[in-house]
Amino acid sequence: MSVNETNPTRKGGISVKTEYIFPVIKKWLYSEKEIFLRELVSNASDAVTKLKRLDSLGEITLDENESFSVSVILDKEQKTLTIRDNGIGMTADEVDKYIGNIALSGAADFIEQYEKGDNQGGIIGHFGLGFYSAFMVADTVEVITKSYTDAPAVYWKCLENGEYEETLYEGEKTRGTDVILYLNEEGMEYADEKTLRSVLDKYCAFMPVEIYLETADGDEEDEDKTEDKTPVNDTAPLWLKAPSDCTDEEYTEFYHKVFHDMREPLFQIHLSADYPLNFKGILYFPAIRNEYESLEGQVKLYYNQVFVADNIKEVIPEYLLLLRGVLDCPELPLNVSRSYLQNSGYVTKIASHITKKVADKLVSLLNNERERYESFWKDIKIFAEYGSLRDKKFFDRVKNALLLELANGKYVTVDEYLENMKETCEGKIYYATDKTAQAQYIKLFEDRGIDVAILPHSLDMQFISLIENDKKIKFSRVDSSTDALRKEGEAYENEAMVALFRKVSGKEDLAVSFEALADATTPALLTVSEEDRRIAEMMKMYGGMFPEGMERPEKASLVLNHENALVKKLAEALDTPFAETCAKQIFLLATLAQRSLSADELHAFLEGSYDALKTALGN
Ligand code: ADP
Repeated sequence: MSVNETNPTRKGGISVKTEYIFPVIKKWLYSEKEIFLRELVSNASDAVTKLKRLDSLGEITLDENESFSVSVILDKEQKTLTIRDNGIGMTADEVDKYIGNIALSGAADFIEQYEKGDNQGGIIGHFGLGFYSAFMVADTVEVITKSYTDAPAVYWKCLENGEYEETLYEGEKTRGTDVILYLNEEGMEYADEKTLRSVLDKYCAFMPVEIYLETADGDEEDEDKTEDKTPVNDTAPLWLKAPSDCTDEEYTEFYHKVFHDMREPLFQIHLSADYPLNFKGILYFPAIRNEYESLEGQVKLYYNQVFVADNIKEVIPEYLLLLRGVLDCPELPLNVSRSYLQNSGYVTKIASHITKKVADKLVSLLNNERERYESFWKDIKIFAEYGSLRDKKFFDRVKNALLLELANGKYVTVDEYLENMKETCEGKIYYATDKTAQAQYIKLFEDRGIDVAILPHSLDMQFISLIENDKKIKFSRVDSSTDALRKEGEAYENEAMVALFRKVSGKEDLAVSFEALADATTPALLTVSEEDRRIAEMMKMYGGMFPEGMERPEKASLVLNHENALVKKLAEALDTPFAETCAKQIFLLATLAQRSLSADELHAFLEGSYDALKTALGN
């Protein structure tokens, strides 16, 4: 069919499968019907881009002063929504070809996907159905379009049942396309400026052609038409700029705008991968969050500046979902399905590129901005540890840039710790899980010139194992052994004292040893071997049930400092009446320095203390 001079009306039905497709569009995308606006606005924006391309190819010459835009015009009275562009337009044949046919090269695929039902929201766009999303919100759709060529303007109208008519347009029409939606009941919520603005903000904020939202009152008079002269979008988002041309202020401003978070991000990574990956983006490490705030980040995925979705876990490594940022991947089809993403080699490459860039950034911060890096280490530690645990490649890249926070407030890398402590620690890293509860031990180590790392989280424990395996070293909690706390001294044994401590502790098999501790003021310490404690912790994590008859592996040993004055005195007074109370108090005090007391222990401790005070006063 072609249009002749007498302007006959063409009639037809949209493709063989309309009766299939319209209900599908409606039903399938019901929950995401706002997508129609993205589809129509991006078609309009594409139409402008195509026209500009013709100009740059020298095929046409555009007026230098001409400005290009897309307008979304709401007419509340008429209940219509018009998407207008001054782009390339269409001839009658093109309308036929592109609009009149649901030109589904993949029609069969489409139906197949639909029947499989695993492609929620992923059909439109992927199959060139974008235009038809209009029918999610409108029963009647009109297109008035004038091609950039000499061809006359065309009027096309389509009803919900798929029947359309097409004639030459009788009115005035300049180059470009108007798509007019007669909103139906489901579409009525879009007859609202606020709603439209928020949908445009979500999907179109960075489209490359200026977009304006206009509201008309159905009245043709100009006074009643409010027209916002600022576009809803930023046509040149920061991620498109060369990283070397971007300032910190620009990054921060962009972050504020996109995430509506007025805090300063800690730092950002500007991704700009050329062929073959060809994607761009900016990832931010968000500022300190309080503990009530969820740790979920937000990475927005774009396709050529058109918003696709948030937090696509197939594209961004899981642990980086804690970050915030934007990624523009023009190689991904708009609205691709999850299963496509999962099986795409391209996606895998993007993910590993991102991983590499994030790791490189941490290493460069360590090497070039150490102070700053240390200042926010606490905030990024969880990313780094979680990432290391999740992704071996990431760990391999960052392992030398990971910091340990020391009890004295300083930060060192694992290698620095080992180097600084090589005289005293022999490849061991001493750590505490609770700076307050383990303060007594920490002090003993620090007095010996040994740094103590603070590793309070359960994630830290998994992380420790990772480092241990990788570097062939050991982490040892401050209460796990007195190896580093001893000094040279005569060996000492005292059977009667061992028996006394076993008695007062109520543990017949209590391991009691005598050592000369460098710190003479400490009479006794409890130790729990690192391995036993870790096993106990693991069992606690997996339900805490110890099989009947099996003893808790977490067994404390008592170390008595035979160079300590109190212990010496006790050794001489073992057969006096107060010896037992004294031993019990020493035992409980050592316990108290290691962990919190049980209720019974606390009672006993208080009783013993009063008793001791009374004795000191001479009964
Ligand atoms: P897709 O955009 O995925 O190809 P659509 O159904 O959205 O599928 O559009 C089909 C075709 O119709 C487009 O590829 C384009 O050639 C044409 N088209 C749609 N909207 C416009 C427009 N506003 N201006 C010019 N051509 C358009």
